[in-house]
Amino acid sequence: MALTGIQIFKLLPKTNCKECGVPTCLAFAMNLASGKAELDSCPYVSDEAREQLAEASAPPIRPVAVGKGVRKATTGGETVMYRHEKTFFNPTLLAATVNSDIADGDLDTKLLGWNALQYERVGLNLRPELVALKDVNGDKDAFAKAAKKIAETSEFNLILMTDKEDVMKAGVAAAGFKRPLMYSATAANVDAFGAIAKDNDLPIAVKADTVGDLIPLTEKLTALGIKDIVLDSGSRDVKQAFEDQVAIRRAALKDSNRSLGFPTITFPCEMASNTDVETLLAGMFIAKYGGVVVMSDFRTESVFPLLLEKLNIFTDPQRPMTVTEGIYEINNPDENSPILVTTNFALTYFIVFGEIEGSRVPCYLLIKDAEGLSVLTAWAAGKFGGDDVGSFVKKCGIMDKVKHQNIVIPGYAAAIAGDVEEELPGWNIIVGPREAAHIPAFLKAQK
Ligand code: SF4
Repeated sequence: MALTGIQIFKLLPKTNCKECGVPTCLAFAMNLASGKAELDSCPYVSDEAREQLAEASAPPIRPVAVGKGVRKATTGGETVMYRHEKTFFNPTLLAATVNSDIADGDLDTKLLGWNALQYERVGLNLRPELVALKDVNGDKDAFAKAAKKIAETSEFNLILMTDKEDVMKAGVAAAGFKRPLMYSATAANVDAFGAIAKDNDLPIAVKADTVGDLIPLTEKLTALGIKDIVLDSGSRDVKQAFEDQVAIRRAALKDSNRSLGFPTITFPCEMASNTDVETLLAGMFIAKYGGVVVMSDFRTESVFPLLLEKLNIFTDPQRPMTVTEGIYEINNPDENSPILVTTNFALTYFIVFGEIEGSRVPCYLLIKDAEGLSVLTAWAAGKFGGDDVGSFVKKCGIMDKVKHQNIVIPGYAAAIAGDVEEELPGWNIIVGPREAAHIPAFLKAQK
């Protein structure tokens, strides 16, 4: 059971040293109780108190990892109802189904096609994460063979879908090394499936007919020591399934109900008659609050917008997306190539980078850390001043790469030209265009 703020306060050192970033131990305790602080922020908690506080400081919805290695994907771990309260942490995982009686060649073709669905956006690789292998005839050998092929030949993580113990055992024996999600333990098989999950240290989904009926199942599994659990409330009716998602999130966050403090799995593929509706439902579950969304297929026209929706919803609204400060080489520049400088706001970087790349003019683009602000905002906030830009140019190493002393500053930061010049004596400060779209013409005119 989660502790209240006062109970947590009693276990803290009560020195009000402020090192955790808040003025008092009581304020820290309250933040910890509501999931707004991390226990590690207080360096003075005793080991004994730490043990007692571990449960209270754990996210109210447990993070559950599926898969292993670089493609390990985590769902859950959320601490708020609404993204604007803090942020959502672990993007919904997208899965597509494969039937266990699929022909070998067809499975190869599917995996190849799905693997190609990768998109680069703001420096991130967006791609779907899971294949849900569905037992359609109880043939454990066919199930194991398909599971093995998906696990060994693709980068996708797996959901093993069957209600039969022997089929699940065969699937786990073939693909357990990749830490698949077992789907699903029900009232009828929870003991047998729980034992398989425990013996193989695998995450397991539980399925019931209502949200309330999930509770005895999760309690049974947690009593066995299984912590990585995913919830399926069973409804395939859109309104009820939506309400179930909200009810589970509220129970975990507002009522501190640990029996429902797990991510969910949803099945648009079993709720829609065509892929268009399925995509809409998937979008709904990404927004509220599906941990895993299972679709019948991955198609470009549905996967791409869903990946972008995930990107938008699961980024921290309080922190702008940034790129790393440094020198970026575009179109193979040499010692005579122009140098441009701008801020590390990701959108600014990608637009400027794209325009320079499209111009085919070899350039160096210097990205100066301005706390993720765009040029005008950074300048107004004092994060992109002439002396800062000048000293950054001196220390970033660009002087070792070029023979000239010309630098292009953004048009919106024309006011800093004098200060940059003062910081970089002998350099020629050129004011570039205000709009990125004018960069190609500007660069060609400079030649
Ligand atoms: Fe109290 Fe620890 Fe915060 Fe110091 S760091 S104020 S001891 S909670």
